[in-house]
Amino acid sequence: MTAQLNPRGDVAVLVPAAGAGVRLGPGAPKALRLLAGEPLLVHAVRRIAAAPSVHTMVVAAPATEVEAVRAMLAPVAPVTVVPGGAERQESVAAALAAVPAGPEIVLVHDAARALTPPHLVESVAAAVRDGHDAVIPVLPVVDTIKEVDATERVLGTVDRSALRAVQTPQGFRRSVLIAAHRSAGDALTDDAGLVEKQGITVTCVPGSELALKITRPFDMALAEHLLTSGA
Ligand code: C5P
Repeated sequence: MTAQLNPRGDVAVLVPAAGAGVRLGPGAPKALRLLAGEPLLVHAVRRIAAAPSVHTMVVAAPATEVEAVRAMLAPVAPVTVVPGGAERQESVAAALAAVPAGPEIVLVHDAARALTPPHLVESVAAAVRDGHDAVIPVLPVVDTIKEVDATERVLGTVDRSALRAVQTPQGFRRSVLIAAHRSAGDALTDDAGLVEKQGITVTCVPGSELALKITRPFDMALAEHLLTSGA
């Protein structure tokens, strides 16, 4: 049986959480590292579960931790836990395969974006519901961006006004995401990239600074600070 959140919801959220988290330094898999005393994954799952449209959540856990993750999430929300793969894309595909019949909107959300507010889940889902095949939350790029060669010599300055930093959750019409994964070739860092390769239009909605990706020790410190100030 697949665990269910809101039986009237039309959204399934996939949470790839099987990464090692090498950039955070040595320790447990990233999603299981503690932030203010609780694993990143618990923070992420709690916020997704608070979004009223969510019918189903499927977490892809490190293969050796599936039982532990199931036990850890049981008191947080009704969540299905499956073993992830060696690459993020494989983890997403494993979670996608576990979505039951029903939800026609599928969101893919990195566990590492543990402080993502429920309203961002809702706004991405709403844009898919409104008829967009693929939707990504984005922020403007604030730094000046240079293109460089292999020797770090500057080749040019990129027009920042045309660039966006991409977050998750990324939302898709279910059939679009299934088709993109079925024909996936090289591993990509996001699911919208797979959909773009199919020639399908991807639409941007405003992201949230709280949806920062916790990747390096500095991000962990920032997230801890945001949590203590009420995020
Ligand atoms: O490695 P990266 O930071 O891009 O990982 C983004 C998300 O994908 C994280 O939540 C991580 O746990 C997940 N992931 C996964 N399976 C992998 C690698 C990463 O579920 N093999």
